Amino acid sequence: MRTDTLLATTGRGLAKKAGVVNPPVYHASTVLFPSLADMRIAQQDTAKNFVYGRNGTPSTFALEEALAAIEGGDRAIACPSGMSAIAIALMAVVQAGDHLLVVDTVYDPARIFLTHTLQRFGVAVTYYPPSMGADIATLIRPETKAILCESPGSHSFEVQDIPAIAAAAHAKGVIVMLDNTWATPLYFRPFDHGVDVSLQAATKYIVGHSDCEMGAIICTDAVFPAIKSQAMRLGTCVGPDDAYLTLRGLRTLSARMPRHQETGLQLARWLQQQPEVAAVLHPALPGSPGHTLWKRDFRGTSGLFGAVFHPGISEAAIAALVDHRRYFGIGFSWGGFESLMLPTNPRKVHPLTPWPYDGPSIRLHAGLEDPRDLIADLEDGFSLLRTVMADAGTAA
Ligand SMILES: *Cc1c(COP(=O)(O)O)cnc(C)c1O
Repeated sequence: MRTDTLLATTGRGLAKKAGVVNPPVYHASTVLFPSLADMRIAQQDTAKNFVYGRNGTPSTFALEEALAAIEGGDRAIACPSGMSAIAIALMAVVQAGDHLLVVDTVYDPARIFLTHTLQRFGVAVTYYPPSMGADIATLIRPETKAILCESPGSHSFEVQDIPAIAAAAHAKGVIVMLDNTWATPLYFRPFDHGVDVSLQAATKYIVGHSDCEMGAIICTDAVFPAIKSQAMRLGTCVGPDDAYLTLRGLRTLSARMPRHQETGLQLARWLQQQPEVAAVLHPALPGSPGHTLWKRDFRGTSGLFGAVFHPGISEAAIAALVDHRRYFGIGFSWGGFESLMLPTNPRKVHPLTPWPYDGPSIRLHAGLEDPRDLIADLEDGFSLLRTVMADAGTAA
């Protein structure tokens, strides 16, 4: 089945039974069994059968079926947030004395989890620069259990050589995990490139409407039992209304992503033409870091990218640009229908990754507004930025 058709059809078994289009929302803790014998049968596989709300309801099972199908993995585990998906997947594969390799451009709260939780529990972590490919083999130790990748990094947008990393990892029995939030399953097919565990902050593009938190771990059958049982031991579960919203967002993913892509590219090209801009960090633009790898491995780009200004541009001028906005919101997260803009500091969050720029940087998310309105908004913002710079020049 082709992806768009899959998005429209997967995870709808329950709905069919009820004669409606969307699977019903199951609010449940207790599940009642017709008999003790039925209960005993259901208990034989608590990861699959509906036995107790915390282990998953039909609402979460429908979502998990869809997430696994779309991402191209065998099984999926819905988690309360993208961050919890990362934490659960990592905890599932290590014990004290083990070692993890983690890309330097990893989502910053994941680094905080590693430092303050896993390292405290005796797990060693080595960060590696995103430019490492097959040479990651030199960092693999006998006790290395997994390599965590994130491609591209969501501040500096380097693309990783996932197939080379996967080949090196699998040669030594190491699991490859990838945070695939930026590309979504539509634009990067993790399991075709050797990934064992794909992590999604579904909060972003899959939910797509900035109205709920959701994470997903999508994995091969080989690692599923370890990760699912870890998630159950931690007591994490997903509310049925959030599962419903996520499944609803998923249905339109393939209608939204090309629009995010197109508008993002238009904004990126416009920014490239501004004399104050030193570089636009967008994997789909030739000359951007990782463009060659992106072209080889990806099927498209999302709407999140960065821009770096020349060193002379002041923080006050950037603040004038970001504060002026009819359409660009100031806020964390991305992937919703609305555009966002935020100053960034990649040097601070990615200490091992070369950052050849001295000027300030921003990150933009292209939403679903008309790109002409967004560019007009940027034009106004840039003229304010120029006013601030000119005033500073006069004052000096
Ligand atoms: C937002 C984000 C996360 C965390 O997702 P939450 O649902 O907010 O916990 C993880 N990885 C990346 C790349 C993200 O952008």
